[in-house]
Amino acid sequence: MQRRRGPTTQQRTDSQSPGFAGRDQLRDAVARLREGRWLLLAIAFAVLAGAVAIAGRIAAGQAAGDLRDGALAALPLAAGTLTGEIEKQRLVPLVLARDDAVRDALRRAGKVEETALNAKLKAIAGDASASAIYVIDTAGIAISASNAGQPDSFVGIDYNFRHYFTDAMAKGAASQYGLGTISGKPGLYLASRVDDGTTPLGVAVLKVELGGVEANWRSSGFLVFVTDERGVVLATSRPEWRFHALAPLSAQDTAMAHEQLQLSDAAFEPLPLRRGNGDGLATIDQAGKSRRFVEVVQDLPGAVPGWRLWLLTPADAALSSAANTARLTTLLGLLLTGLLAYVLVRRRRTRRVRQEALARMNTELESRVSSRTAELTRSNSALAGEIAERENAEAKVRRLRDDLAQANRLSILGQIAAGVAHEINQPVAAIRTYAENAGRFLEGGRIEPASGNLTSIVSMTERIGAITGTLRSFARRPGTAASPLPVREAIDGALSLLSGRIRDSGVTIVKPRGTASPLVMASRIRLEQILVNLLQNALDAMKDRPDPRIEIDLAERGDRVLISVRDNGPGLGPEAAGNLFMPFQTTKEKGLGLGLVISQEIAQELGGTLRLDPGMAKGASFTIDLRRIE
Ligand code: ADP
Repeated sequence: MQRRRGPTTQQRTDSQSPGFAGRDQLRDAVARLREGRWLLLAIAFAVLAGAVAIAGRIAAGQAAGDLRDGALAALPLAAGTLTGEIEKQRLVPLVLARDDAVRDALRRAGKVEETALNAKLKAIAGDASASAIYVIDTAGIAISASNAGQPDSFVGIDYNFRHYFTDAMAKGAASQYGLGTISGKPGLYLASRVDDGTTPLGVAVLKVELGGVEANWRSSGFLVFVTDERGVVLATSRPEWRFHALAPLSAQDTAMAHEQLQLSDAAFEPLPLRRGNGDGLATIDQAGKSRRFVEVVQDLPGAVPGWRLWLLTPADAALSSAANTARLTTLLGLLLTGLLAYVLVRRRRTRRVRQEALARMNTELESRVSSRTAELTRSNSALAGEIAERENAEAKVRRLRDDLAQANRLSILGQIAAGVAHEINQPVAAIRTYAENAGRFLEGGRIEPASGNLTSIVSMTERIGAITGTLRSFARRPGTAASPLPVREAIDGALSLLSGRIRDSGVTIVKPRGTASPLVMASRIRLEQILVNLLQNALDAMKDRPDPRIEIDLAERGDRVLISVRDNGPGLGPEAAGNLFMPFQTTKEKGLGLGLVISQEIAQELGGTLRLDPGMAKGASFTIDLRRIE
């Protein structure tokens, strides 16, 4: 079924009131769905009814087959009962035809009463259960009979009109079914001609009434009857059917039947039996009711030529029971199948709905995940941007710090330049003196003192070289790489840088006692820069002080190395001490207030600290605290 779509954009645009139009369409769709359902239901019902009907028919057909099998099994028995009876009786007239007493009686031809033969015939009839045995002479008159002397005696009766008599006389033997002229009872007449050599003497006749056979048939529960070659019923388990015909006889057949059966007033009405209406069943209409029978038929060649035996078995109960059972079973089966199909369809639909819901959830989840991912990517890239910015800023700060440190070093160099000039001037002046003296010694031919002066000149130039080398390396921008550095080297370097100023100021420098020189991880220039800053500040503080003195201490505490620079200057008041490491805090006219800030930063960079030692009674003391390495 095609699913109806919602209104298209065009339809919606055309509609004046889209809400109402939509509702109408919805109602329409629901109505169509309902119609479809009803149609489906009707088809299902029709299929169900059809299947039930077909199942009923098939089951009835099978039941009919079973009944037919039963009837076919019963048929030989029914036939045997009849043919056995006839064959048994048929011998009697044959034997009598060869009996001398019979012949003698016929030769006498009714001239005497055949008392002895009558008795004999009576005895034989009794033994053979024949209804009558009698002997007819050539004129057709019965001369002796088993019932002689009785009111219904055949003796003296003219049987010339009987076909069994004329036929037997003509052919030697004959049989005929008919009603007895005296008794009025039906029976089969079996006749044999009695011959005296080649001369016919008469006919011996036995009448067998088939009441016993018919009773036997009746007791079998089947409806059994025999028809002659025209379809006229003769022996039958249902006596009222006798001399009725299977089908209406033609006028000619009626005449011939009248003739053969010698029943001039018989109408040969058709039996209330309809046969062969397609299902192999015969129907008997009686008392306004139709009853169905399974019918089987068989020729009886051994009995009388042209006779056929019919056996009918009631089928209504068996057929309707089989059909009903099959219908019920089919109905239940189909209903169960339908129920199962319904359950399966429902389950599949439920599963599909669940799968669709799952798919929807999945899609939503995926879209959420992707939007969240996009968000995260965005914030990630924002973060990366921030990080880059921060790194940038840090790099800037680092550069700035380097620049500041460099500026600090250059300012130090500026400050110590005068001292350096002085430091260099001294050896230069000494060189000059040594050189002049050497010249004079050479003029005087005194080689040895001249050579001594030249050696002194060489050592002076070495000293100048050492001073300028220290300055050059201090002025250089330091590499960031730190290496194991003996602390004493840095102390000596710093003192050497300030040697001029120290000498001029007359400060007493007390260097660390002992010779121990622990190693720290530092760049030499950096550590020297801190020390120079501290020493400069001390020198500045002790300007105009009597007996200025700077003590440099070196101590090891665990894995720490402590380098202290202590002066006996004015020291720092609490306020100045609090703001000491703040930039631009200076008490000096030309000061920048950056020396301690930069020194503290360098100390931290080297993995240590720089602090003002508290509780100094006199002067100020600063300590560089670094990690010792082995
Ligand atoms: P600047 O030397 O340019 O002033 P610093 O940061 O090196 O900058 O010093 C800051 C201030 O701390 C100095 O101006 C001075 O007042 C004070 N100070 C530093 N060292 C000492 C010291 N040893 N004794 C007394 N005051 C000091």
